[in-house]
Amino acid sequence: MSKFKELSLIEPILQNLTEAGYVTPTPIQEQSIPILLQKHDLLGIAQTGTGKTAAFTLPMLQLLSGRDFSLTPCEPRSLILAPTRELASQIKASLDKYGKNLKLKNAVIFGGVGQAAQVAALRNGLDILIATPGRLLDLMNQGHCRLNKVQFFVLDEADRMLDMGFINDIKKIVPKLPQERQTLLFSATMPGEIAKLAHNLLKNPKRVEVTPPSTTVERINQRLIHVKKADKYQLLRKVIEEESSELTLVFTRTKHGANKIVDYLAHFKIASAAIHGNKSQSAREKALEDFKAGKIKILIATDIAARGIDVQGVSHVINYDLPVEAESYVHRIGRTARAGRDGDAISFCDETERDALKRIEKTIGLKLPADNFVGTPEASVKMTKPQGKPFRDPRAKPKNNNREQSQKPRSPEAPRSDRPRSEHPQRPRTQGNTGGPENRKQTKVGFKFRNRK
Ligand code: AMP
Repeated sequence: MSKFKELSLIEPILQNLTEAGYVTPTPIQEQSIPILLQKHDLLGIAQTGTGKTAAFTLPMLQLLSGRDFSLTPCEPRSLILAPTRELASQIKASLDKYGKNLKLKNAVIFGGVGQAAQVAALRNGLDILIATPGRLLDLMNQGHCRLNKVQFFVLDEADRMLDMGFINDIKKIVPKLPQERQTLLFSATMPGEIAKLAHNLLKNPKRVEVTPPSTTVERINQRLIHVKKADKYQLLRKVIEEESSELTLVFTRTKHGANKIVDYLAHFKIASAAIHGNKSQSAREKALEDFKAGKIKILIATDIAARGIDVQGVSHVINYDLPVEAESYVHRIGRTARAGRDGDAISFCDETERDALKRIEKTIGLKLPADNFVGTPEASVKMTKPQGKPFRDPRAKPKNNNREQSQKPRSPEAPRSDRPRSEHPQRPRTQGNTGGPENRKQTKVGFKFRNRK
């Protein structure tokens, strides 16, 4: 495999790459950089984790560098569209890292925060604008941004844009771009609508496709646990308590579900944070920073909020809810096993998720090794949320003789979970499973979580 030097990158960029510790280009970088330096359009089929950000930012920085004229206010020279604020911020961080000393100006704009600083950045003139579609359109409509000078246009994670309903915004943005430009479109998957968009956007594009998703996950130890919906909280706690977890990323389907898990774990003195679209930008950034720094070991995320999150050292990805789309499964589990390390991906599957499971197994071409978990009603799981509202285990039916107790939050001094495991009157059980759910035997075999390191 070649080194970056052989890709005709300029010296300052090579230096920045050395400082970043990059020695060898990833396959998408090796293939895309020469194409882009020759000013071709590009259709890149690649997902996060393949090094695709450097694949487009490095040639972009090189082609834009050497500017010897002043920038025009509100008319950026290039535009990168990303579906989420997290991904947009991450692209900016990459541009800052790879473009150090090139004296190119970039700024990121996204919704959910005030626009004043973003408008000021646009007025100062920009070589590179990174934006989410909604806020960009908003600022364009207010006259703060014109796209007539854009020479380089990147549409990143196009399939996510489609999932998140941005496709109409993109259709409004594209006609404002000049006809003469270099265009790049990246997508992990190629549904019909994206293929159509690519056809309309790109002129004679070169196509680069890196390892299909099903083979990028070889280093990930994937497992499945069949569990009743109501037992999922208990199972999650068991996995967290018993497994080695440097950093654990837990995926839920809903924002509300993510919040409830944080409350549940807090009751058992397990610190975690949720990251989803209803959280303020500062709360999301804080949660992500705390997670990256290892201050919080467990991050609960929805798919959309987790998009673009790149954190080294995630040892476990837990699919608390199975994703409806099979491709999201691959995206999610790709958050572990980064930078050549191994990782664990554990998926919970309840009675309502069997169809989603079938789709996932078909997509990855693999039958996931499965176990079974049977929880026990935790009458004790009647906790007080930090906000003071009672939280009840959906299975815990109050009996007449303990109604009094069931309505009071338990004493924080003596949580039942603090008892040594051997003293638990009824510990959750797991059963080995070799067949489908209907064949599962209720015997105590096989299923062991590895010890926490
Ligand atoms: P991306 O797919 O762009 O999100 O990149 C995934 C991760 O790989 C990021 O943490 C990058 O910093 C890192 N990375 C990208 N290219 C290289 C490279 N050539 N060598 C080492 N790490 C890289």
